[in-house]
Amino acid sequence: MALIVQKFGGTSVGTTERIRAVAERIVATHIAGNECVAVVSAMGDVTDELLLLARAVNPAPPEREMDMLLATGEQVTIALLAMAIHALGHEAISFTGAQVGIVTDAGHTKARIQEVRADCVKDALAEGRIVIVAGFQGSTPEGQITTLGRGGSDTTAVAIAAGISADVCEIYTDVDGVFTADPRVVADARKIDVISYEEMLEMAATGARVLQLRSVEFGRNHGVVMHVRSSFNDLPGTIVKEADASMEQAIISGVTHDTSEAKITIRDVPDQPGVASQVFSALAEANCNVDMIVQNVSEEGSTDISFTIPKEDLVRAKRTVETMVAHLGARTWSVDESIAKVSLVGAGMKTHPGVAAQMFTALAEAGVNIDMISTSSIRVSCVISGEQAEQAVRALHETFGLAEHEVYVETAPTTGGGN
Ligand code: ADP
Ligand code: ASP
Ligand code: MG
Repeated sequence: MALIVQKFGGTSVGTTERIRAVAERIVATHIAGNECVAVVSAMGDVTDELLLLARAVNPAPPEREMDMLLATGEQVTIALLAMAIHALGHEAISFTGAQVGIVTDAGHTKARIQEVRADCVKDALAEGRIVIVAGFQGSTPEGQITTLGRGGSDTTAVAIAAGISADVCEIYTDVDGVFTADPRVVADARKIDVISYEEMLEMAATGARVLQLRSVEFGRNHGVVMHVRSSFNDLPGTIVKEADASMEQAIISGVTHDTSEAKITIRDVPDQPGVASQVFSALAEANCNVDMIVQNVSEEGSTDISFTIPKEDLVRAKRTVETMVAHLGARTWSVDESIAKVSLVGAGMKTHPGVAAQMFTALAEAGVNIDMISTSSIRVSCVISGEQAEQAVRALHETFGLAEHEVYVETAPTTGGGN
């Protein structure tokens, strides 16, 4: 007998027929002798529709009220799924995030989980019931409802799995697993059988939205083995776990893209100590998540600073930058909302130089101009024009032979390290 957490995303529970299909899958797992906890998302596009409703009454809704609204989406699904399981003759009980003791900080709309109490989950399992939990939501120690950021049901599932020491956390979605690129953009993207937390973290952080970044962080920190698979078939998906010697060591695991960020440039900032500190401290205080930063070479005592942030933080960032520009005596500032970030991820980059150079060549040959570059030991990211994102992803997937080769064999000399 195993203890299994199964998470079902929006498309997987998008209609009442789909909810019945999910109920059958959970019951089959239960009948096979396992203890089951299901974590579910809001049905289909419900979260997007709730966001539109909010914006129709207020362009900048208070974040506490936003959480009150968004948390309702998942609550519909848990009750319907529990009813569907009862209709199949099995005992199920649904709980909200607050009820199962998902305790978060007060960072409304992107709260972080601090503690998972999960006692009522364990009690219900001990009574032989199937447990259904609302994803994406929690509550502060004071009882305020919070949500965990888009895609947050993945994190709920992994957090519950850690909290009850589950054997595996299955993430059921609308694709067969984690692919070498978004399969909706690259037709011949290949499913990855096993991937390390380290690589999955970089893929999730750079746009592979199949797993929320925090769910992978949580999985790694608590050693939860994740299995990403389709809710539409029974094929094995992708296992996400600690790297070990048995794993295929691809140089490049995948190529990702992200069009959810915008770029802000502040021009002619005085080039003196403390300026960057003031700009980015003010942005941090305004709860803006800065990603890439580039500062130009100083000319005649002034410089330009560019950085990227999620578009959802843009209203707050614009307000902050406007104040800082006046405060610092910078000349002007601008926003570009049509950027994309394309990234190559692969643990093999650590020991194979030449990957970055080959990436830049492939982009140049595809006529794609690079605006900003950032790297980690296992990733190279380039900011490019948003319109060219898909073209760039296809060119990189092709150049690095990700469809055909199990392991990409590089052509550059293999001495030294880095990218
Ligand atoms: P769910 O509602 O099940 O949480 P999401 O829409 O959040 O599903 O995530 C699944 C989607 O992620 C897929 O439909 C796919 O288009 C997208 N995706 C982006 N990059 C990748 C990738 N590298 N591998 C698999 N899916 C990806
Ligand atoms: N319903 C939320 C969203 O659409 C959470 C989730 O699906 O993971 O982002
Ligand atoms: Mg998701």
